[in-house]
Amino acid sequence: MKAVVFHEHGSLDNVVYADVPEPEIGPEMALIEVKAAALNRLDLWVLAGWPGLNLKMPHIIGSDGAGVIAAVGQRVSGFTVGDRVAVNPTLSCGQCDFCLAGRDNMCRRFALFGEHVDGFLAEYAAVPVRNLLKMPDNAGFVTAAAASLVFVTAWHSLITRAKFQVGESILIVGAGGGVNTAAIQVARLAGAGQIYVVGSSAAKLALARELGADVTINRNEVDWGKAIFKATNREGVDVAVDNVGAATYQKSLRALKRGGRLLTVGNTSGPKFEIDNRLLFGKHLSIIGSTMGAIRDYEQVMGLLFDGRLRAIVDSEHPLSHGPSILRKLDSGDVSGKLVVSDFKR
Ligand code: ZN
Repeated sequence: MKAVVFHEHGSLDNVVYADVPEPEIGPEMALIEVKAAALNRLDLWVLAGWPGLNLKMPHIIGSDGAGVIAAVGQRVSGFTVGDRVAVNPTLSCGQCDFCLAGRDNMCRRFALFGEHVDGFLAEYAAVPVRNLLKMPDNAGFVTAAAASLVFVTAWHSLITRAKFQVGESILIVGAGGGVNTAAIQVARLAGAGQIYVVGSSAAKLALARELGADVTINRNEVDWGKAIFKATNREGVDVAVDNVGAATYQKSLRALKRGGRLLTVGNTSGPKFEIDNRLLFGKHLSIIGSTMGAIRDYEQVMGLLFDGRLRAIVDSEHPLSHGPSILRKLDSGDVSGKLVVSDFKR
């Protein structure tokens, strides 16, 4: 079958559109004919590699996928050939103490499609049925693939971990990323008070307002830390979402009011930085980290997407053979929403 792969870690030059063997399924797995797959910044980091990441090569790229079941393993019940399914990107064992407690994104054998095992930029993918969610007839594959990773991540962080409350104010640092555009919508749906979004381009900030942001701040035009202080009558916000890291953490912590929570699921500008501890204890702040979401989170948030109450933001759709150039586009940062592969015939 055709797939977008790399044979060794390194630069974008290593990404190729190639023929690879069709995957085999185990007794509790399904073979999915992929109808849509989406990219995430994670794909670039996996391509570059890091110590301890030992992948079977060639590695198929892409954590997000949706499609139609083409075959099922011997012990599968509840799913059948022809079912339209979205795939929860988080793999978990179903047996450890965390999985049994419904906290499967903390599984002792946690893994991610596209990161630790083959992903979805391929004609077919082998998926444990534990990861499948049946899609309503009117739900689109592109929506399902574009939404899965970023929405389950934003939902788990805001709703499950931070227990975001009606009326709370929230600052989202970054306007264009998939998790951020998801977080704006989840906060709106959860009854947020004021939603503040900091971003770097007028177009991305316009999208943020369209999705529910009340106040947008262009960080190229003003000192956003001061602007937030002013906009909140020198009070600060209840919750800050910061997945930027090194470049913004200090300002995000300063933007919180007493007892505020900082949520993080990643760090696009680098993972290591100093924190002024006086801010933490002096203002009773909490930093809440998480990664991905549990199966329950996935079912809840995808139900809202399928109902049209949340919206996947798609930058553009592409054929599978363009995989290498789509990754270049992702790397350029000139993207507003998800890059989706939706044509697997060319
Ligand atoms: Zn487990």
